[in-house]
Amino acid sequence: MPRSRLILVLGDQLTPDLTSLAEGDPDRDRVVMAEVREEAEYVPHHRKKMVFLFAAMRHFAARLRRRGWTVDYYELDRGLGDLCEALRRSAEGREIAEVLITEPGEYRLREAMKRRWPQSLGLSVRLLEDRRFLCSLDAFRDWAAGRKQLRMEFFYRDMRRRTGLLMEPDGEPVGGRWNFDADNRKRFDGKHRLPGPPRFEPDATTRQVLEQVAEHYPDRFGDLEPFWFAVTASQAEEALAHFLDQALPHFGDYQDAMTEGDDFLFHSLLSLYINAGLLDPLKVCEAAERCYQQGRAPLNAVEGFIRQILGWREYVRGIYWLMMPDYKEENRLDSHADLPWFYWSGETDMRCVAEAVRATREHAYAHHIQRLMVTGNLALLLGVDVKQIHEWYLAVYADAYEWVELPNTLGMVMHADGGYLGSKPYAASGKYIQRMSDYCAGCAYKVSSAEEDNSCPFNSLYWHFIQRHRRRFEKHPRMSRVYKNWDRMDGDKRRAILARADALLEHPEDL
Ligand SMILES: Cc1cc2nc3c(=O)[nH]c(=O)nc-3n(C[C@H](O)[C@H](O)[C@H](O)COP(=O)(O)OP(=O)(O)OC[C@H]3O[C@@H](n4cnc5c(N)ncnc54)[C@H](O)[C@@H]3O)c2cc1C
Ligand code: SF4
Repeated sequence: MPRSRLILVLGDQLTPDLTSLAEGDPDRDRVVMAEVREEAEYVPHHRKKMVFLFAAMRHFAARLRRRGWTVDYYELDRGLGDLCEALRRSAEGREIAEVLITEPGEYRLREAMKRRWPQSLGLSVRLLEDRRFLCSLDAFRDWAAGRKQLRMEFFYRDMRRRTGLLMEPDGEPVGGRWNFDADNRKRFDGKHRLPGPPRFEPDATTRQVLEQVAEHYPDRFGDLEPFWFAVTASQAEEALAHFLDQALPHFGDYQDAMTEGDDFLFHSLLSLYINAGLLDPLKVCEAAERCYQQGRAPLNAVEGFIRQILGWREYVRGIYWLMMPDYKEENRLDSHADLPWFYWSGETDMRCVAEAVRATREHAYAHHIQRLMVTGNLALLLGVDVKQIHEWYLAVYADAYEWVELPNTLGMVMHADGGYLGSKPYAASGKYIQRMSDYCAGCAYKVSSAEEDNSCPFNSLYWHFIQRHRRRFEKHPRMSRVYKNWDRMDGDKRRAILARADALLEHPEDL
């Protein structure tokens, strides 16, 4: 009998046809899964995120056992320090040929597996490609090679051609345009029923995880209850069907909208399921495409949704692996301020920020525009240290893994990589938030003012940002108008705005 192998399955690898499982043999090999302190604690993950992952892992282990696999599962209560310890325990007293792992989504872990684990375990560790993405890392490298600029839009078009999604037989995009973003910027008018996500009752397994996480992490950020995430592939499929039926038709129109009355609008809330491996990204895109073909959803919605997954999601992964490890050290706008405490407490008079943090604390979720244009925009304008804001985003969202979170934070929000994810920074004044939301009416600050004591902080901070980065952005073709507007402003007014911003920057905790 050939010696058995250990197959380590990570928390975001909950996919039955994972390459490591496909190569393994249930009659001979053992699956190892573990809830370990190192992974739970290297950033203070939201408690709902931990419950989601541990509950989904336990359900997945049960599924593998039903399929005939032997699974060594180490629960949180076993107190294991790291993944190597789990492998060591499973190897004890057994003849093990090697450890098989589908490559992890984080550089830190991949390096440890390659460089440290073989020696530490005394076993060879073989990493296999993660094929759950639509663009392999090699294909992305080929696409990037020799290009002066790595623009998401061109990558996305290539991906449309490669997959055939929303393509006519003659190679033209369906509807004659690649991108319907210009149609997707409506403020929410309250005229459509907001469907909300489907809510799944926790079963006994999930209840047990809830109790254990509550016991081990009593003071961590994030509400545990109510817990309603899907934790199995079949529940995640239900969540997808719910989205396609109820929300997709309006996804495009209100993609950029925000409202006090609802934390989800017409967003899918599928990222946590796709990222953990409970849903397949291609099947999700194909299901959305069918909705268009069957007349169940308009093209601007379906194209917008597919672009997020086929375009942005694949693109940020490609950038992450292309640029790491140097990428994580980038900080081209020299941002070094401390992250204000209200990112954790939510105690700020800025209505839009308080709402985004509240939603984050309650659901381990905030939708893209809250992440980008509220908490992100504020961090950019305050010049928050890139590492601190990166760790916050990595910790607080149920869908957060470094490969997807880091490029979004460091690149898209903080413009710290010089512009891969957007040629100009997504800096905006309070006017943008006023246009896209109903927050400002109930805010202690005055959105129509930039220099008064009660003026919206976004306004003066925006102009301060523009002024302090003049050398970098003045010649940018899409920003020169902004500089002209600033220069045209009355000198006293400009000075008053900058003085207001200086005062805010001095005491950001008081916002
Ligand atoms: C600062 C910041 C941090 C972010 N961190 C994460 C993260 O850790 N994990 C994560 O999955 N997304 C992250 N995003 C991207 C995006 O905000 C989330 O994917 C989205 O909000 C998830 O909610 P949803 O499923 O309702 O998305 P929807 O609005 O319904 O979009 C559909 C799907 O498209 C994909 N998608 C959309 N935008 C992006 C994007 N910019 N990058 C990658 N995929 C995208 C997701 O899979 C998402 O489920 C971040 C964005 C910002 C600005
Ligand atoms: S006034 Fe400014 S701080 Fe207040 S909600 Fe509007 S944009 Fe946010």
